[in-house]
Amino acid sequence: MVGSETERRYYSNRMARIYLVAIEDVIGSNGVAAVLRLAKLGHLIGNYPPDSLDREFSFEDFAAINQAVQEVYGPQGAKGLCQHAGRATLKYTVTDGGLMADLPDAAFKLLPPGAKVKVGLTTLAKSVADFSDQEAYVVENEEHLVFVVEQCPECWGRSSDGPICHGTAGMLQEALHWLSDSQEFTAVETECVARGDDVCTFTISRKAAEEGPEGHSATGSAEDAALDDGST
Ligand SMILES: [Zn+2]
Repeated sequence: MVGSETERRYYSNRMARIYLVAIEDVIGSNGVAAVLRLAKLGHLIGNYPPDSLDREFSFEDFAAINQAVQEVYGPQGAKGLCQHAGRATLKYTVTDGGLMADLPDAAFKLLPPGAKVKVGLTTLAKSVADFSDQEAYVVENEEHLVFVVEQCPECWGRSSDGPICHGTAGMLQEALHWLSDSQEFTAVETECVARGDDVCTFTISRKAAEEGPEGHSATGSAEDAALDDGST
């Protein structure tokens, strides 16, 4: 189930650039240079892709960077670094009016958190297609919203025993934080193409609510995230 060898897909230069800059913020330019050398992308050392929306950064190269981060820093280190980079990717594309630009303003702001999350992630899924050759959509089961990524740039051609798309998880975490004005929601990767699943999926749920002094939950049940459509 790895990316087809005959198929070339591309990420936008800007998203790859933000991702590399965010990694550099943590491990420094020498750290990134080591990662890029290991990924056989030495030409990118000190020469990150331009800040443009052109789709010119191949999924192969993006996956190779993530693979090299994992080889250098180990699974846990890679998880932290790639989540950080994914968060930055969303944050800076949001502030640039990028990934979430299509969200309706006033009406959207009035929605309850669960509905905002649903509308927001659906918008995000559509707009990643404008920024890359990635395809994504949101589905809803009885209990959760699920963010599905087909043709995932992060694990393209890679194989692993478990989920490894930490950058996308970080991007979703940042989106959830931004959409719900809180840290109430989590995104956990539950399927990954790298370990043989058909698609990469991220299950969105509310964090377990803390018991308040009155003994009932301060937030809602997990169902609210999926079923609260904001209709009044
Ligand atoms: Zn993936």
